[in-house]
Amino acid sequence: MPRLIAFRHPRPRRGSATRRILPVFLPQHGCPGRCRFCSQRLQTGLDRKPLAEHHAQLAAELDRLYRTGSQPLEIGFYGATFTALPEPWPERFVALAASYMKQGLIARIRCSTRPDACDFSLLSRLRDLGLELVEIGVQTFDAEALARSGRGHGPAEALAGCRAVSEASLALGLHLMPGLPGQSGAAFLRDVDTAVSLEPESVRLHPCLVLAGTPLAEDLTAGSYRPWGLARTINLLALALLRLWSRSVDVIRLGVAPEEAFVTSILAGPWHAALGQRAMSLALYLHVRSRAAALGLPASRLHLPRRYQSDVRGWRGELLPAWRKIGLEPEALIVWDREFFLLEA
Ligand code: SF4
Repeated sequence: MPRLIAFRHPRPRRGSATRRILPVFLPQHGCPGRCRFCSQRLQTGLDRKPLAEHHAQLAAELDRLYRTGSQPLEIGFYGATFTALPEPWPERFVALAASYMKQGLIARIRCSTRPDACDFSLLSRLRDLGLELVEIGVQTFDAEALARSGRGHGPAEALAGCRAVSEASLALGLHLMPGLPGQSGAAFLRDVDTAVSLEPESVRLHPCLVLAGTPLAEDLTAGSYRPWGLARTINLLALALLRLWSRSVDVIRLGVAPEEAFVTSILAGPWHAALGQRAMSLALYLHVRSRAAALGLPASRLHLPRRYQSDVRGWRGELLPAWRKIGLEPEALIVWDREFFLLEA
């Protein structure tokens, strides 16, 4: 009688319904300098303008959404070092958003910031006003990569910032950037382990790209920076996903959205329109392969839930040769409406 193993997709199940996030971009406001890879103008498609203008624009937009009976939204203040905006702007923005919480339009308020701008007393005041989640653009905890990326702080500050968010009873989100100058694959996976140890609610993984007009583009021209290749990046992202998922950390973004203006400004780096799908598919394959190894290879059949059919095949069927290597020809990948079942040969 062949043995079988039943299992679920390794991605953690989301506890609550995902809500639309209304992003409010405040490009590079509050940043103490410019990180070598950063171009918020290209990433947000917006030019920098005074905070008072952003505030007035947001007030008008929230009023419009309220009057038109929009579904409840989350609001996210992005593209800036939100907790280093000049006083009293952090409080003013959060208070404006919070005034629509009572009316049911805003369900949650989040912001992004740098780890060295996480002052405990400011975080506590913002929490009291209604802020719930702080996403920290840590990018890396690696000393050399931080220095060569022009971040202006070291690993100790990166860790302290994350801890301050948790100590202020705020939910923590982390952004990591694999492929920074001076960063090895092993250092990225150490970053992932550090991230896991901080128990974030969510993580975003944005591989480092060289954007036109950035200091990193100069490094590329000078030959002092070589971006990671696409295949290496996908492999490392898949390993990172498995580590994060195994500790129930949700990965809410992999790579950047394929918007034309942004994509045409990429000079080099591991960009692909289906990067996230390719990394998630590979992570699923690696997960199943480890299950198959527990049975003793080769396997004879994999029954898979219909919703994961394209994930199992991989982008344009790129994983089919890998399935063959563990004994699973395409006809042995059987779609059905239950969870995963793997049978030994
Ligand atoms: S802190 Fe963030 S937004 Fe500011 S320059 Fe660095 S990467 Fe860009």
